[in-house]
Amino acid sequence: MDKKQKLQTLSGMRDILPEEQVYFKRVQKAVESITQYYSFSRIDTPILEQAELFIKGTGADTDAVSKEMYSFRTKGGDLVALRPEFTPSIARAYIEGGMYNLPQPVKLWTSGPLFRHERPQAGRYRQFFQFDFEALGDKSPSIDCQVIQMSYDILKDLAFKNITIEVNSIGDQECRPSFKKILAGYFKSKKVSLCSDCQRRLKENPLRILDCKEEKCQQVKAGAPQIIDHLCEACHAHFKQVLEFLDELELPYTLNPYLVRGLDYYTKTVFEIVEKSEDGSSQGSLVGGGRYDNLVKMLGGRDTPAMGAAGGIDRIVNLMKTRELKPDKKPAEKPEIFLAQLGQMAKRKSLKLFEEFRSAKISVAESFSKDSLRTQLNTANKMGIRWVLIFGQKEALEEFITLRDMDSGVQSEIPLSKVVEEMKEKINKK
Ligand code: AMP
Repeated sequence: MDKKQKLQTLSGMRDILPEEQVYFKRVQKAVESITQYYSFSRIDTPILEQAELFIKGTGADTDAVSKEMYSFRTKGGDLVALRPEFTPSIARAYIEGGMYNLPQPVKLWTSGPLFRHERPQAGRYRQFFQFDFEALGDKSPSIDCQVIQMSYDILKDLAFKNITIEVNSIGDQECRPSFKKILAGYFKSKKVSLCSDCQRRLKENPLRILDCKEEKCQQVKAGAPQIIDHLCEACHAHFKQVLEFLDELELPYTLNPYLVRGLDYYTKTVFEIVEKSEDGSSQGSLVGGGRYDNLVKMLGGRDTPAMGAAGGIDRIVNLMKTRELKPDKKPAEKPEIFLAQLGQMAKRKSLKLFEEFRSAKISVAESFSKDSLRTQLNTANKMGIRWVLIFGQKEALEEFITLRDMDSGVQSEIPLSKVVEEMKEKINKK
């Protein structure tokens, strides 16, 4: 490497700095509370998997695998990949862990980093974070609605207002192949108006054209035949029930007949949740998911219908910031006490005292690394803390502590053995 070249994050990757952590934590809290309520258990799968899992599962000709997957050969010669999504890993874990022996559905959730070598742009990163939940082993439309409801609840809990659920059914192996032919026929007649990527998609999978964001393809798409008019009886009945449940749950949804989602394994229900700003513009989906009744079998497991969803945490956090949605309903409590200390002996003893306060559930700020009393008092002042405990050489030797009330400037002395108890009283009296 050029000696002068600066070491910095890779393109499309970033540090999540301390000030942003509160937002990430808030999203995590919302996800934890909803998944717990709906009895989903936490699972963690490895970040690195056999590339084959995603080639088979996500689909070899999907963008996520063909263009964006980080894959490489290990020294031992194995072809491995950084996970571009969670669902195939969870389906693999379900098979590998023999979870079909458990009462069904098996409900699992996870969160963590994913990797896609996408063109970096606003809201798109090459390492990004998702939360994800999957219910495996249940074919009933009610589970589709439960997953949609949970996704919606998480965003509501995070104070998003103008959110809409877009739903569609993309059929199954019974009805999709014939619909693809109908769709290909339509797009062939408009081939010259499609972007070059879509001209290729026309051969590989015409459904993907419906996903294209190019303006000219959007125009062609507007007149395309709709899959809901071509569903087989089973898919039609399933979708009808999903919509009836959504009505019953009073969830605000719209039918989007062109929603297909970019992955191979989806069957029947697909959905996305988008947030619209005041001017009606949208920054893309915040959560997306659907049913995938064939994936587990495709990966070597039993016939296992399943439904899942994934939410983009980075995008949710970015929107929370621009919409000024507070990371926490209750602002983080500021510490009640500041512990200032001077000299080696006091420092040593104040470490123990700090721990005693923690056991008593009283939050204490300190600056063990700062020496001057003035600096420490200034810090306490800036933090708006009323009580400062000053622990110097004399105090440490004579086993007492000086309490300074920052509001009045009055100082008093407390025996070291009584300090936790007395401070507890003072704080409770406030
Ligand atoms: P997907 O797994 O593609 O269905 O995406 C689910 C959610 O993850 C999307 O709705 C986005 O919010 C988020 N997401 C997908 N790709 C990225 C990315 N490259 N950077 C940031 N967020 C992403």
